[in-house]
Amino acid sequence: MALIIQKFGGTSVADVDRIKQAALRTKAEVDAGHQVVVVVSAMAGVTNELVGYTDQLGTHSDAREYDVVVSSGEQSNAGLMALALQNLGIQARSWLGWQIPIRTDDRHGKARISGIDTKNLVNRLEADEIAVVPGFQGMDPYNRVTTLGRGGSDLTAVALAGALRADCCDIYTDVDGVYTTDPRIVPNARRMKKIAFEEMLEMASMGSKVLQLRSVEFAGKYSVPLRVLSSFKEGPGTLISMDEDNVMEAPTIAGIAFNRDEARVVVRGVPDTPGVAYKVIGPVSDANIEVDVIVQNVAADGTTDLTFTVHRNDISKAKTITETVASDLNARDVAIDENICKVSLVGVGMRSHAGIASQMFKTLADVGINIELITTSEIKISVVIEEKFMELAVRSLHSAFGLDAEAT
Ligand code: ASP
Ligand code: MG
Repeated sequence: MALIIQKFGGTSVADVDRIKQAALRTKAEVDAGHQVVVVVSAMAGVTNELVGYTDQLGTHSDAREYDVVVSSGEQSNAGLMALALQNLGIQARSWLGWQIPIRTDDRHGKARISGIDTKNLVNRLEADEIAVVPGFQGMDPYNRVTTLGRGGSDLTAVALAGALRADCCDIYTDVDGVYTTDPRIVPNARRMKKIAFEEMLEMASMGSKVLQLRSVEFAGKYSVPLRVLSSFKEGPGTLISMDEDNVMEAPTIAGIAFNRDEARVVVRGVPDTPGVAYKVIGPVSDANIEVDVIVQNVAADGTTDLTFTVHRNDISKAKTITETVASDLNARDVAIDENICKVSLVGVGMRSHAGIASQMFKTLADVGINIELITTSEIKISVVIEEKFMELAVRSLHSAFGLDAEAT
């Protein structure tokens, strides 16, 4: 007998028929003798609709009430799922975040889990009752409802799996696993049987929307065995493996991630003196703007250029701050480019293979793509290029690194 967490995403529980279908997946595990905790998202689109209502009254004017509103899509789905399971003859009940409780801090709208009291839940599981938990919600120290940030139902599932030491955490979604890259860009992208946890972390942070980033971080921290599966198609899905050796045999490059969410700031002609990088980047991070790639050129004539990227939503704020700093430093000017994108090769196998970077640069050169910035880490090489070349870059790299699925 195993303890299994099953998490159903918004499309998997988008209406009552789909909830009934999902309930059959739970029944299959129950029939096989397992204990199951089901975590549900809101019906697809519902959270956005709820956010829209709060917008009409001034978003986040009171984030506590925002959370009461936006957490409700999960609440109704938890009740519906419990009913669907009961209709199949399974003993089931819903457990709202505050009833378990799932304790969080009071950062409403993006709360962090501080602890989960599993005692009551475990008692009921042992009495052969299936637990249905609404994802995305918790309770703050003042007993008020919190939400865990968009996409937070994944985190609920992983956190429960960690707290209950579940044997596995199955994330049911509308894709049948994690792909080598987005199949909408590369139609012959391949589903990976396994991906190392660190690779998944990179893919998720680069905008692969299959799993919420924080849930992947959490799974790594607590060694939660995670699987991504389709609700609509039978199959083994993708296993997120905590054991790197397990996937070492796999190709050097696991996948290609990309994002178009960044914009570039270049501060030109700053004096090449100690503390300049700090003077430019400091105020930007003080304003809570996340800086990604940073490059400083070698100085010529005693001045240098400092380039960095930020999220596109933050660009006008970053521009204002940087322009002030630039004028204080007597820099020449500030140039902004919003038409960039970042493309990354990801793979733990990179650690033991040289030449990946040069093969990447050659591939891009062969199709005439100019590289603007380059950064590397142990398991990732990223380039910033013009946005209009993104699809070409991803496709070319996907086939150059042997990731294309074989034609059938
Ligand atoms: N319903 C929430 C959202 O759309 C949480 C989730 O589904 O993961 O962000
Ligand atoms: Mg999701």
